[in-house]
Amino acid sequence: MDRRVLLATALAAPAVMAGLGGEAVAQAPAQPPQPTPTQAPGFYRFRIGQHLMTMVHDGQAIRTDPTQGFVRNASQEEVATSMRAQGLDPARLANPYTIPVLRTPNGTVMLDTGNGPQTAADSRIGQLQANLDAAGIDPASIDMVVLTHFHGDHIGGLLDGSGAAAFPRARIVVPEKEWAFWMDEGQASRAPDAMRPAFANVRRRFAPYEARIERITDGTQILPGLRAMDAPGHTPGHTCFHVSDGSEQVMILGDLTSRPEFNLTNPGWHVIFDMDPVMAEATRRRVFDRVAADRIRSVGYHWPFPANGYVLKEGNGYRLVPAEWSSVV
Ligand SMILES: [Zn+2]
Repeated sequence: MDRRVLLATALAAPAVMAGLGGEAVAQAPAQPPQPTPTQAPGFYRFRIGQHLMTMVHDGQAIRTDPTQGFVRNASQEEVATSMRAQGLDPARLANPYTIPVLRTPNGTVMLDTGNGPQTAADSRIGQLQANLDAAGIDPASIDMVVLTHFHGDHIGGLLDGSGAAAFPRARIVVPEKEWAFWMDEGQASRAPDAMRPAFANVRRRFAPYEARIERITDGTQILPGLRAMDAPGHTPGHTCFHVSDGSEQVMILGDLTSRPEFNLTNPGWHVIFDMDPVMAEATRRRVFDRVAADRIRSVGYHWPFPANGYVLKEGNGYRLVPAEWSSVV
């Protein structure tokens, strides 16, 4: 029995009983159809001096059994125990994606682009465009797309559903070392079979932007108040970005860290996506120590929405304190 039939039966029952007693039967008014339940749009804003940051959610993917093969250097039992201690179900892990869009007096910058439009109607990811619409951000208003690295969940949104450039005006700013690695034909031909699609995907996503790509190196000031910082390990050219205006500052961490329950509590855990896990760990500890010591508000691409807060040193690791409510005026 579907929900509407069930509801109609439940409403009809008292009337039938009343009718049997010989009293007047009141006709229940027809129920209007119920809309499919949805979440509120996923965006969240805060200011960094005169810059306005909008965190735009792209949804989340579910990984089943994250205790198996997800962390290279921890046993299944260690991962399950740590997850349970932090209130997570070891049978499944939500992997969220949130894209920072920074409006500055000198232009609007999107940092990474999410997974891109999905074809499955029930997909939990690919929500960037709908949430940009809800936040009133037109893709044509994006002056620059800056990429932390070239994994598929960061470059997917460069293309729209038809395979054309999703950002008609944007210059595409890429770390020089990241570009050199992924565009190198030698690397592509030597890559293990499992990585071939990633190399092909990089070529496809950048193709419509060929004339608009700008390469940057460590320390490049992209705009006043936005500076690149080398953070290699997750990928060869993985880059963090420092945003500042006067004394206010934010660090865009990209994939320096996976979920806080994994890489803050356990900074030594090597999650499978880190291409050079030893270097990734060293970079992670160095940057976490800096943002913790200087109390720099931080943005983690895979942290739970709205994906920003403060990293505190705690025990042998770190802890994320979600940022408090922020005024946007
Ligand atoms: Zn990622």
